[in-house]
Amino acid sequence: MNDCFNASGLLSVELALENILSTLKPVKQNEQIEFYDSVDRILSKALISNINVPIHDNSAMDGYAICYKQSCDTYQQIGTVLAGEYFEPQLNPGECVRIMTGAPIPKGCDVVIMQENTTKMDDKVTINQTIQVGDNIRCAGEDIAKGDTVLTAGHKLTPVDLGLLASLGINEVCVYKRLKVAVFSTGDELTLPGEPLKTGAIYESNRPVLISLLQKCAFEVIDLGIINDTPAAIKDAFLTADAKADVVISSGGVSVGDADYTKDVLSEIGDIGFWKIAMKPGKPFAFGKLANSYFFGLPGNPVSAIVTFMKLVSPALESLSGKSSLGELNSEKANKLTAVTTTAIKKRPGRTDFQRAIASINSEGHYTVSALPYQGSGILTSMSKANCFIVLSADSGPVPEGSQVEIEMF
Ligand code: AMP
Ligand code: MG
Repeated sequence: MNDCFNASGLLSVELALENILSTLKPVKQNEQIEFYDSVDRILSKALISNINVPIHDNSAMDGYAICYKQSCDTYQQIGTVLAGEYFEPQLNPGECVRIMTGAPIPKGCDVVIMQENTTKMDDKVTINQTIQVGDNIRCAGEDIAKGDTVLTAGHKLTPVDLGLLASLGINEVCVYKRLKVAVFSTGDELTLPGEPLKTGAIYESNRPVLISLLQKCAFEVIDLGIINDTPAAIKDAFLTADAKADVVISSGGVSVGDADYTKDVLSEIGDIGFWKIAMKPGKPFAFGKLANSYFFGLPGNPVSAIVTFMKLVSPALESLSGKSSLGELNSEKANKLTAVTTTAIKKRPGRTDFQRAIASINSEGHYTVSALPYQGSGILTSMSKANCFIVLSADSGPVPEGSQVEIEMF
């Protein structure tokens, strides 16, 4: 693996991600699924429209569709057309039909006049406004024209896209198969919530967070539970995970002191880099290839595990699942804002800092942000209270109150 460390032996966040992304080969098997089940799935084939949307010229208003005649302001009504109907006869200049929103425009009509701007006496309709030909007509194909590429391959489908598919009459889509992601936590001290806590033990919190983040992105999760810190248990977990999944994510056991078993086992069964990443929180991180899957080893500290997942694993999973990088970069940028910090922030140059913070908009309409007071990598409440990261670049030092800082909204 092409590792590239700075003078202090740390790998920058950007290079770590570059390393990861350049190693990955997207898992691109297709399947055809019901469009109703396709939210958050990635299209594997561009979607071309077979029809015009709207399918015919139709009325944008309840009113009268008229066949325009110069200097005429009273029109002869010759019929009515509701949405779902079709009015066959061709209109002659000076004639009109009563029309409802969504109804197809009858032949010969060139404008729809809002009901509110008309006066009706028997079958004579007087227009009380200047007539602008073309008004209130929604033209066939004005939203989507037949033959248009509506969505490209690699697009992640949203709830609105379901409406788009439905409006095109499409009930099945071709998507990439869901990534299978195996997750486990390592540590003899880890206890499941609901169980009694032995002296020295703690409740395990990383796996529920990771699993729910993965499920939110429509990945298929294989939960392998808590694995004890013994070489046999760890090896067994890795082999099981590798046999079942495209991606294996573990937390704990990758920091220098206590990573021995994980390191030994992984060097036996895969090609794994143990990195120290220039980020705070989240220094220790492991990445590489097992026989069948990619492996991400997250630090055990709860905030470090979440932040490394968000910054390094999440983009990697998106890329593996076939999502086009264009959308990814755009959505990343869309989250970034500039804000004035209302707190001074302690920082030493060397690592990119992801401070957990609360951003708000002040009375002048400007973004302000305050870093939460406790920033330890084990302080999970800092993550839960925050609505953004303040991102301080690796080379920046302390930040005085009142400075402009970059924030990333969650
Ligand atoms: P490690 O990376 O295994 O050295 O763990 C670092 C710290 O994170 C230790 O305090 C562990 O007890 C804690 N930790 C490790 N895994 C978890 C987990 N799944 N949930 C909560 N805390 C954890
Ligand atoms: Mg541990």
